[in-house]
Amino acid sequence: MSCNFGLSSCENRGRGCHGFPSKCHCGLDAAIYTSCTKQNPGRPYFQCPTRGDEHLFKWVEEGVYEEVVEALPKISIINNEISNARSEVAVEIDGLKTRIEELKEDAMWSKRELKKWKLMILCLVCLCVTIIVIVIVILMCKTSKGTFVLDY
Ligand SMILES: [Zn+2]
Repeated sequence: MSCNFGLSSCENRGRGCHGFPSKCHCGLDAAIYTSCTKQNPGRPYFQCPTRGDEHLFKWVEEGVYEEVVEALPKISIINNEISNARSEVAVEIDGLKTRIEELKEDAMWSKRELKKWKLMILCLVCLCVTIIVIVIVILMCKTSKGTFVLDY
């Protein structure tokens, strides 16, 4: 940054350029300087490096003000978009919570069914073992009767 001692009434030259100027109409990049005049001590401004009378000049605070004014509607739009996105996410979360509850109920039902089937299989195995034991006992009784008969 450098100091300019001669600036006083050339503020209109920045008009037409909204917000922060990046280039002067001559094609040179705008630079930031600090005013050292009695009227504007320490006040920063954009100016064309040529410092010509017909070249860019704009106070930085004017650029900041224009940028803020320009940004406010965008911020409002962004806030609305965020609000909409929050609503959509909330709906999606509710849907996922419902799905989780359904899956939990399905898992509980499956567990109960599995227990039921295990019990049924156990009963069937017990029944089969009982039948086999009864058949073996009957066969043994018949065999021992036959032996008994043969002995006498
Ligand atoms: Zn210029």
